[in-house]
Amino acid sequence: MKSDEVIRVLLIEDEEGDAHLVKMKLRQNSGESFAVTWAQSLEEAQQCLAHSSFEVMLLDLSLPDSEGLATVHSARSMAPDMPIVVLSGRGDTNFALSALGAGAVDYMVKGDFGYDGLARTIRYALLRTEMEARNNLLIAALEAAANGVVITDTKAVVIWANSAFGKLTGYTPEEAVGRKPSELISSGLQDQAYYKAMWTAILAGQHWRGELVNKHKNGHLYHEELSIAPVKNSAGDITHFIGIKEDISERKALEAQLQQLASTDPLTGLFNRRVFLEQLEQERAKVARLPNYSAVLLMLDLDFFKRVNDVYGHGTGDEVLKGFADIARSSSRAIDVPARLGGEEFAILLSGADQNDALIMAERLRAQVEAMRIEHEAGPVQITVSIGGTYVSFNDQSSEAVLHRADAALYEAKDKGRNQVCWFAVQAVEWVNV
Ligand code: GH3
Ligand code: MG
Ligand code: MG
Repeated sequence: MKSDEVIRVLLIEDEEGDAHLVKMKLRQNSGESFAVTWAQSLEEAQQCLAHSSFEVMLLDLSLPDSEGLATVHSARSMAPDMPIVVLSGRGDTNFALSALGAGAVDYMVKGDFGYDGLARTIRYALLRTEMEARNNLLIAALEAAANGVVITDTKAVVIWANSAFGKLTGYTPEEAVGRKPSELISSGLQDQAYYKAMWTAILAGQHWRGELVNKHKNGHLYHEELSIAPVKNSAGDITHFIGIKEDISERKALEAQLQQLASTDPLTGLFNRRVFLEQLEQERAKVARLPNYSAVLLMLDLDFFKRVNDVYGHGTGDEVLKGFADIARSSSRAIDVPARLGGEEFAILLSGADQNDALIMAERLRAQVEAMRIEHEAGPVQITVSIGGTYVSFNDQSSEAVLHRADAALYEAKDKGRNQVCWFAVQAVEWVNV
């Protein structure tokens, strides 16, 4: 609204004296100029609206064809987006207030216009309507966003949320308002330190971004990327937080799938050589660091496996490898690392184990493999396995040294007739005086 603009006013007033007063007051105004069109009834106003456009309506409520609040309702429906300023009689304040509830933006008492009260009221009515339209536009933009948007006070109590928030969390904006997101969607999977770091950042006025697992209203867990921006007032105090939430469950599932592909052998599902060598190196470093800690490496190789392929075909060979892998997996504890190093060559890294544990485990595994039968039309297929074991020693300078000893033990098992477990002795732990 610029001051050199002409503001077109539709004045709906049946009393000539009142109408003249309004026109005179607006003509007197020194700021913007007003072009007033005068209608004496709603019907006449309707005709004016059909032919011209106006910025604002000044409305007397007692007209020949309408009376009281019904006048506001009718005027509203005739010009839904136009600000309406009600002109009321003296001593009618309560009634004028109910006109605001019916859709008028403001009211003025006739005869109390003061020097420029009427012009100022019109100016504010236009400004307010413009701001409301802008506000509605911003809300529409937030509602159109695919990401969940939530506004909280400084105590994290929700004061507004968009519908994408509702879709992501299962809680409608109405359900969320007045409550804290932590009460609604916390999964308990992030520790206190995580939230503490977040609060430290945002209370310091910094933008925070992180990934977390939250709980939907229906109980399922989902991955979310959350960014929180503190909002400050002109004095620099934080008044609100704005949270933007993106559902990243699909991306996380894809990442997990890629991680799985990159770390496992596709045929058997066991860890692949790369992951195994990384784990072995970590374990070697741990043994070197911790005086009374021990770990064991087992190398396993199927006996005369080539014959299985030659006699029963490659497909059956694959079934034997998978059957063996199932036994290796079920024999291992959660902290062990069973892996396929290549072909029919496997390894198991036993964290924190000693020779006794390892030999018992290896012997049980050997016996289970011997007892395994893989179905084939020519009859059940049998296989045996040779196993070599050794400690990861605090003296080992590299993983290769450990692999080399385990290999030597494995060759000894092969040499001695296969289907057995051999051990390469070495000092496991460094003795320290206590
Ligand atoms: P040994 O008792 O000395 O270990 O004899 P072996 O026959 O088991 O050993 P060798 O190294 O001679 O043969 C291994 C065979 O494993 C040869 C190769 O074709 C087969 N092989 C390697 N990878 C796969 C696989 O993924 N599937 C199948 N079916 N066979 C495989
Ligand atoms: Mg009247
Ligand atoms: Mg073999």
